[in-house]
Amino acid sequence: MSEDCIFCKIVNGEIPSTVVYEDDHVLAFNDIDPQAPVHVVIIPKEHYESILSVPAGDDIISHIHTVANRLVLKLGIADSGFRLVNNCGADGGQTVPHLHYHLLGGRSMQWPPG
Ligand code: C5P
Repeated sequence: MSEDCIFCKIVNGEIPSTVVYEDDHVLAFNDIDPQAPVHVVIIPKEHYESILSVPAGDDIISHIHTVANRLVLKLGIADSGFRLVNNCGADGGQTVPHLHYHLLGGRSMQWPPG
């Protein structure tokens, strides 16, 4: 837990969110500013600033991907395509310094991203 972290506050219920999946290690909720018809943020409950902070041997990234797979099926975007995005660092587009993945779907995606 990091005291000033928005996502830690969401985990603790201090900031409301619309939860779409939860287990002991991961929380997934609808993005407050959705960029696609489906836009879910998947986070570890433990605070890691970014993927660079995850120790070798920690399986949280693998677990997040497994959760993403489940959500893709649950939210009905498996057949139409989707995007699983991790923004890392300020120039990588990361605005919240708590490791998270965006799951986006329900529209056609463009490449390259901006
Ligand atoms: O990758 P980045 O750090 O920019 O993503 C943070 C995401 O967290 C944004 O898409 C933002 O809309 C979302 N957010 C949220 N609920 C909050 C604060 C931020 O869904 N209370």
